[in-house]
Amino acid sequence: MESHHVDDLEVIFDCAGRNDWGKFSFPVWYGIPVKIKWRSYTFDFNLQGRLKRITGSPSVWPDPTEMLKRTESDDFVYYGTDGYELSYDLLKNYYLPYSGKYESALSDARPLESAHVAQALSTFDCLCERAGRLASAAGDRRLKKFLATVAAMDRKMLAQEAGKLHSIIGGSLPVLPPDIIDVDYEVIPLMVTEGCDYQCRFCCFKTADGLKARSRSNIARQVKALRDLYGEDLVNYNSLVLGQNDALGAGEELLRETAETAYAGLRLGESCHGGAPNLFLFGSVGSFMSARESCFDILNALPFSTRINIGLESPDQATLDILGKPLKAVAVTEAFRKAQAVNRRWPNIDVTVNFVLGTDLPLRHLKAVRDLIADAAPCRDKGAVYLSPLIGAATRRQVLEDFRKLKRASALPVYLYLVQSL
Ligand code: SF4
Repeated sequence: MESHHVDDLEVIFDCAGRNDWGKFSFPVWYGIPVKIKWRSYTFDFNLQGRLKRITGSPSVWPDPTEMLKRTESDDFVYYGTDGYELSYDLLKNYYLPYSGKYESALSDARPLESAHVAQALSTFDCLCERAGRLASAAGDRRLKKFLATVAAMDRKMLAQEAGKLHSIIGGSLPVLPPDIIDVDYEVIPLMVTEGCDYQCRFCCFKTADGLKARSRSNIARQVKALRDLYGEDLVNYNSLVLGQNDALGAGEELLRETAETAYAGLRLGESCHGGAPNLFLFGSVGSFMSARESCFDILNALPFSTRINIGLESPDQATLDILGKPLKAVAVTEAFRKAQAVNRRWPNIDVTVNFVLGTDLPLRHLKAVRDLIADAAPCRDKGAVYLSPLIGAATRRQVLEDFRKLKRASALPVYLYLVQSL
């Protein structure tokens, strides 16, 4: 650790945090940030001087366990706690990440609209100006350079950097696979396909067109540009998410080439985080059912721990019809069984699934989900089932009641799915 005091600022370099993505009910940080302590706040920056997190002492912050986090797509997410009900048991996380978009099924809290968040961001604006003034007076070269970068990376510039990210990958990821909560949403996005073939009526995240794979040259160009964009902060990443909503539909050869190109190009094996790098992607029922054994052999042999999440929605035909999901219930049941089989056979692959929750759905839906997950054979801690409350379609009480019924009956781990985007 290297600490500098310059005027009323303290700047701390090389303050390595945890490298295991462990989950704790008290505040920890992961990776290697640079911290600036100023005016009762602690601002964490990435190694390129971009704001990452804000916390504060009791005079300016209501709870020392809570934090404001900025994503690489320049969204703010508030990590709060909301009592026992929203604890690890429910979310696989001790904190509820409030993005202000999708958590209304779980909480009425609006921390992003609070006065202490507004005050913290306004203090950050002042910090950028202050860093610029202090940079010229700083004697130490490393300190001088870092303060100058912080000064340049004000909120306007941070928004432009996020624009660069989306322009590199040619779009955004409107929804991230739920398993990414295991790496605190710290993933590098890479687009391998766009769209999906189902166009389900209920879906808020579908894109206009059907499934389309990116070309090899496009993927290689993305990797090169991402390497430049993330620069020296690449060391803080060991996880890749392949976009968009059905990356598995890219097919085994394109997936293999993409994963290998990204592994080398983004130096994922050289990260400060321990363990195998992570590869996250969505698959559809169709792409998953048409994936041959050779596809799983290929994914299993990659230098990644791979998580594939499949949106099954419901094993009940009437519910699928109401949702406008063009699938037969029997295909959903087969996909669920295949997920269990893949989890048993390939050690480096974990297939997880999603079902929806909503009060407007037929009663048979909940029973069909319960029967399916109660009957499954557990495979270590793999094969989690995520329950996704349909936006605006259920009260919080109902969501929690249905969640508990299913969790109690399930042979597999069950969690609620809180949508995050990138
Ligand atoms: S398959 Fe998934 S992403 Fe595509 S429209 Fe249906 S729910 Fe949305």
